[in-house]
Amino acid sequence: MSFDNLGLDDRLLSAVRSMGYTAPTPIQEQAIPLVLAGRDVVGCAQTGTGKTAAFVLPTLQRIQSRPGAPRALVVTPTRELALQIDEVARTVSRTTRHRTAVVYGGVGYEPQRQAMKRGVDMLVATPGRLLDLAGQGHVDLSRVEVLVLDEADRMLDQGFWPDVRRILALLPSKRQNLLFSATMTDEVLKVIGETLTDPAHVDVSPPSRPIEAIEQALYPVSGEQKNDLLVKMINHHGCERVLVFTRTKHRADRVARTLDRAGIRSAAIHGNRSQAQRVKALDEFKRGRCRVLVATDIVARGIDVEGISHVINFDLPNVPEDYVHRIGRTARAGKSGWAFTMMAPEEHDNLRDIEKTIGAIIERGDDITGFDYSGDRLVPDPARTHAGPRKNPAPQGARRQGRRGGSGRYNRSGAQR
Ligand code: AMP
Repeated sequence: MSFDNLGLDDRLLSAVRSMGYTAPTPIQEQAIPLVLAGRDVVGCAQTGTGKTAAFVLPTLQRIQSRPGAPRALVVTPTRELALQIDEVARTVSRTTRHRTAVVYGGVGYEPQRQAMKRGVDMLVATPGRLLDLAGQGHVDLSRVEVLVLDEADRMLDQGFWPDVRRILALLPSKRQNLLFSATMTDEVLKVIGETLTDPAHVDVSPPSRPIEAIEQALYPVSGEQKNDLLVKMINHHGCERVLVFTRTKHRADRVARTLDRAGIRSAAIHGNRSQAQRVKALDEFKRGRCRVLVATDIVARGIDVEGISHVINFDLPNVPEDYVHRIGRTARAGKSGWAFTMMAPEEHDNLRDIEKTIGAIIERGDDITGFDYSGDRLVPDPARTHAGPRKNPAPQGARRQGRRGGSGRYNRSGAQR
């Protein structure tokens, strides 16, 4: 399949080439022709599937660039997502000559007001700030022809729905609606029923293939050993671009400090950071100026950085689905990736829930040179215990975990595979 057969015109095809995409992802292949045909579309797809381009490309083809009020509106729950969508929209607009703008809370109003004044074709927004600007008369939503609701499930979870309803009331009733959601809960389906007209459904989830492209490995350790293991893990595997997840903001800061002290440049990104700090951290990570980004789940879905080689779960997530979101930050766009998970004894129940959710056992990782693996003695589940000193420690440098045969893999029954 190529982009040539989806109905995109030459300007958009040229934009696709400028982004370096050679073939459409499944969501793009399915959604682009439907959007171009003017249909309402429900896309069940997670971040990482290429959904942003799936709505940005055809939407920009459908709207003409005219000075004045936005013709396309994208509503998304977080600033990070808004910035990432805006980045794709801006890249495409370089070729199509549309004007795009992004508005979100936590920063000054004036630059956003000025951007609205200059005129916008596609506006990307988080709900609260959009309502503020609309309430103050700085955004006119009466010309919107295409509405995109991105991460609808998350907007519902985070209590944004009353705001979204207020936004819907400001839009013309005749418009095209595109709704994307990682999950289709009853609540989301209700919203679809209320908001969309005869929508076409496109489903590319759950991402069973992406998760299979990720080599997962488990490292049972005591809580006190986690810092030491993290540093040795990153050095041992030669991890290039690493995303580390912690349970709390405080722990994220602490882990970033520990890594810095060990000579591994890192930055932390979480809900307590100001917008400017978050943007700076993400930017430094994207540009390779720091090797490790430490994050909490609240910002996980908004992190869309190419070439993350490793995701390390410093703490297990409390919600099993978050595990899938976290590790999905690696192995993007067909590349392979590694996901290492540290587990302290008290996190064992979380692990069991995650394994139930993903329908697979996360196998024990190879030994790390220079790390005393006393964690083996701490695991309540004997099936996971390490049978003895490893004779063939893993070689230096990144290597795949958890799937190859050979030494060091144990199944549930404790038998070596
Ligand atoms: P998204 O799901 O929109 O967050 O996209 C995930 C990642 O896939 C982004 O880094 C995109 O740049 C990349 N991507 C999207 N579409 C394609 C494509 N057709 N070919 C290669 N990479 C893509």
